[in-house]
Amino acid sequence: MLMHLVSSLARQRVPGQLVIQLTDRCNARCPQCGMRVTEDFPRTRLETDRVLAIIDAAVRKKIRSLSFTGGEPLIYLKDLVPLIRYAVDAGIPYVRTGTNGFLFMGSNSPGFEARMEHLAETLAGSGVRNFWISIDSADPAVHETMRGLPGVIAGIRKALPIFHRNGLYPSANLGINRNITRQTMALAPGCDGETFYRTYRDGFRDFYSAVIDMGFTIVNSCYPMSVSPDDELAAVYSASSTDRVVRFSNAEKALLYRALFDTIPEFRNRIRIFSPRTSLYALIMETEQADGGNTVNGYSCRGGLDFFFIDAKSGHTYPCGFRGQDDYGPFDASGFPGASHERPCRECHWECFRDPSELAGPLLDLARRPHRFFSRFLTDRSYARLWFEDLMYYRTCGWFDGRKSNVCHD
Ligand code: SF4
Ligand code: SF4
Repeated sequence: MLMHLVSSLARQRVPGQLVIQLTDRCNARCPQCGMRVTEDFPRTRLETDRVLAIIDAAVRKKIRSLSFTGGEPLIYLKDLVPLIRYAVDAGIPYVRTGTNGFLFMGSNSPGFEARMEHLAETLAGSGVRNFWISIDSADPAVHETMRGLPGVIAGIRKALPIFHRNGLYPSANLGINRNITRQTMALAPGCDGETFYRTYRDGFRDFYSAVIDMGFTIVNSCYPMSVSPDDELAAVYSASSTDRVVRFSNAEKALLYRALFDTIPEFRNRIRIFSPRTSLYALIMETEQADGGNTVNGYSCRGGLDFFFIDAKSGHTYPCGFRGQDDYGPFDASGFPGASHERPCRECHWECFRDPSELAGPLLDLARRPHRFFSRFLTDRSYARLWFEDLMYYRTCGWFDGRKSNVCHD
C-alpha cells in the first residue's frame, strides 16, 4: 500500500478510486433516494462486457479502489460476483459492494440459515474486501418502514455471525437523516441549536450502540445528500432527494457534524468507525462558513481528478455522481482529465469522495507544496492533531479490512 501511495504522490495524484453504478434498479422504498422502487423511470444496468472493459481500463489507470453500487447491486448477484473476482484478480486491492439488505428478510422462514451460509460463502469467495449493509435508524421499525423491508433487521442479526464465520465482516452504513432515532424524528422544525445538537448527539450514541449490539464491527456514515433544483449540481447519481428527511440547513448540518464529531471518540475502541474526524472538522468549518461563520481550512474534493463515477444509464464517466454537466465519456476510451479540469470543488458532502480527499490532502501538499503543508499545520494545530489521530486510528484498524475481525483500540 505504501509503495502505491508514494508512487501516486510522486505523480501528484492520490490513489485512484472508481465507483461503478452497476444498475439504477432497486427494490426498496427509501424516501431519501430518487432510485426507490416507487419512482417511475426507465431502469438500466451496465452490461457485463462493458464492466469488464471498464475494469481493464481501471487497472491501466492505476485505480486502487473500486466500488460496485446501485440501485441495489445484489439484484444482480450472479453477475456481480464474477465481476468482483475479475477486479480482484486483475490486481485492484480494495473492491467493495453493498446492499440494502433485502436478502436478509424472511429470517423465520425455513432454510434461512442455509441461504445465508450460501450468500456469505459466495461473497467471501468473490474476494470482496468490504461489504456494506445500509441501516438508517437505531430503531428497527423506523429503518424497516423507511426501506420498505419488513423483518430485515432480525435477518441481519442472524446473518452476521454466519458472515463472520465465512471471514467477511460487513459494515453498517448509516445515511444520516432525520430519523436516526424516534427523538430526532420528533424534533420540531426550527428548534433551538442546543436541543438539536443534544438530540443528535444522543441519536448517534444510540445508533452506534444499536449496530454494535447487532454484531457489526465496522460502521460508516454518509453525510446528508439533498441536491435541490436550485443547486449548481446536476446529479446523474440519483441517490439524493429533496425530501425533508435528508434536507438540512447549513446551521443544522454544522450541529449535526459536530454531534457526530463529538460522539466518535466514545465508540472508537468498540467498533471500527470509518468516518474521519478531520473530515467532520472541515465540514463543520465549511457549513459554519456558509452560515456566516469560520474560514474553510479543509481540502477540496478529488472527484474528477483521482476519483470517478460511472453512470449505469450511459456507462460514461463523471467526476462524481453529482456533476452531471461534466461528462468525460467512456472510461476505457478517455485519458485522465488534464490539469485544466482541476478545479477546487466542495459542492457537496458525498462522503465516498470527501472523506478520502480530506485524509489525502495533506500528503498531496507535502509532495507538491511542502510550505503549504507546514503553514497549514502550524496555523491550525487542531486540524494537524486530528489528522495524525485519524491516520493512527486507521492504521490501528488495519485500514478497515472487512476480511478481518479486529475492533480497534486507539
Ligand atoms: S438508498 Fe439504496 S436501497 Fe434505498 S432506494 Fe436508493 S438505491 Fe435503493
Ligand atoms: S465535492 Fe466531490 S463529490 Fe461533491 S460535487 Fe464536488 S467533485 Fe463531486
